[in-house]
Amino acid sequence: MIMTKLDNDELKCDCGGWAKPAKLRLEGKEVRGWKCKKCDMEFIHPEDAQTILYLNKLKKQALEVKIGSLGSNQIIRFPKEVSTALRVHSGDTASIKVCDHNRLEIQIKHKK
Ligand SMILES: [Zn+2]
Repeated sequence: MIMTKLDNDELKCDCGGWAKPAKLRLEGKEVRGWKCKKCDMEFIHPEDAQTILYLNKLKKQALEVKIGSLGSNQIIRFPKEVSTALRVHSGDTASIKVCDHNRLEIQIKHKK
């Protein structure tokens, strides 16, 4: 678990001080990162930075995806960027709400 080790380690800051793991805020969302005690410099966790980047990009555009079938059910696949942005993993569940004759709302529920 390299990431767990990274999450708990301190980072050497440019000022010569050490940045300790901290919960930071980026664009209103809580993200993992490190904060230097000496100069207050903040370092955002690369995974969380990527998530925010994808979220911002994806919120500006509609993605067109194909609807396929699996047995008697219809399936929709979404691109890797979407699962990264929403941190979707196999085993997570989703609640689906029919909003209109051609609109669905999907809410991801992460497994604990
Ligand atoms: Zn510093």
